[in-house]
Amino acid sequence: MSAPAIQTNWELADEVFGILLHAWRNKLPPYDNVVRVQGPKIIPKTFPWGSTEHARFLKLSCFYMKGKIDSGTALIALSQLYDREQWMFEPESFEHLNGNSSELRSRVFDSLSKNGLSFDALNVSGHWVHNMHKLARHWDGNPVLFYKNAETYEDLCKILFRRGKRTGPEEPHGFFGFRHKMASMLTWFFEDAGIVKPPPYPVPVDFHILRDLVSTGILYVDSTQPGTALSINRLSREARILTLKYCQNNSVETLELADALWNLSREFCRDSPSNASSIAEKYEARRTRITEKIVRWSKTEETRYFRTCGRCPIEKKCQWAIPSANYYVQGLVVIRGKRQKPLDLFDQSGISLPFVPSLEKKPPHSEKEEKVNDLEQVEMFN
Ligand code: SF4
Repeated sequence: MSAPAIQTNWELADEVFGILLHAWRNKLPPYDNVVRVQGPKIIPKTFPWGSTEHARFLKLSCFYMKGKIDSGTALIALSQLYDREQWMFEPESFEHLNGNSSELRSRVFDSLSKNGLSFDALNVSGHWVHNMHKLARHWDGNPVLFYKNAETYEDLCKILFRRGKRTGPEEPHGFFGFRHKMASMLTWFFEDAGIVKPPPYPVPVDFHILRDLVSTGILYVDSTQPGTALSINRLSREARILTLKYCQNNSVETLELADALWNLSREFCRDSPSNASSIAEKYEARRTRITEKIVRWSKTEETRYFRTCGRCPIEKKCQWAIPSANYYVQGLVVIRGKRQKPLDLFDQSGISLPFVPSLEKKPPHSEKEEKVNDLEQVEMFN
């Protein structure tokens, strides 16, 4: 039986995106305390903003803009690595490999491992050497040249994606770690830094973006109900189409829409009580047990709710709880059920009452909840 088609509610998207963009532009919750991972608070001060060195750093940072790692922490470590081991970021170090890269790979591996970037260091070190070699050999060490050769987003994808045999060192095209999300991510970073004026492109679609779109019902299937599991690939494709068209039709910069969508899920939704889970310590790949954390509306849960959903600009549009656990463990977006609200938020008719809490600090988390939050952090834009 074929999976039900993913559908898009364009009117709702217009409404929700409009509300979020307004909040983003005016630094309203959830955007009042956002620290952007690609911003000047994190990026090294030792190269000029907008320089070729900056562009190379941003391209390498894409290795860490993915699931199962906290992107902000990784980019701080990468910035420190830049200041300690600049040779790793210079194309000259990789230009004359002549096919034998094992020594260089192990130097890169050691440097990553010793500088707080041991996560997936074996793969990253190989990809790092391959990509830097290709950049040095075919692109004058300058990733901004990709955009001189790309009139459209599709052109850019052709340059970046690895496809069949067109990936070896002789070929200018094909970089490890780049599919649609990273093509958008790189473009987003470059546009944000004022490095390029890119062709129209979709937001970098990851779990956070999909959670926003599915929890509101902007992306849906006819039979949507608790337990519905949706394919990431199909959802992602529809999310790219939607965000690209929305930006083009409304003269909105992808830059802004990506910031608004991504930061909503990272700042608020991941701490929403309805999205919490715990995962069995016994690892069994996609069969690893995921347990829903039943919301009992303890003081902690209420406080969490008031700090997140209770201050969310699209609270009235958001219907479904979408935990991250199923995405990272099973590779699915699963609709857990209706997003829950504390009972005292309702009057007799079930209509939610306004609540504007003033909570400066996050409450301390229990050890179990901390585990859950770690899981929620595992991605950007992943
Ligand atoms: S209501 Fe809560 S879960 Fe829904 S979008 Fe807002 S913060 Fe996220």
